[in-house]
Amino acid sequence: MSDINKGKIKCPVCGQEWGKGVEICEQCGWDLESRTYLAAPSQEEQNKWNKKLEIARRNWQHLKQSKVEVEEEKKRG
Ligand SMILES: [Zn+2]
Repeated sequence: MSDINKGKIKCPVCGQEWGKGVEICEQCGWDLESRTYLAAPSQEEQNKWNKKLEIARRNWQHLKQSKVEVEEEKKRG
């Protein structure tokens, strides 16, 4: 877990970097601490975490896309 000791945590979902101590990504809502609990995850826990991450990423991409559409909608008036 060397990335946590550097003082910055990069959100695995949206890629935003946060300072140490931030528990929830304020941009996408990902639980940044969820990985800390899984210091030595079983294969099943790892699979579950990967699945969760995959879904969160998909949702984030979807959300980002709809934000862009809203912005373009605004520009058009
Ligand atoms: Zn995030």
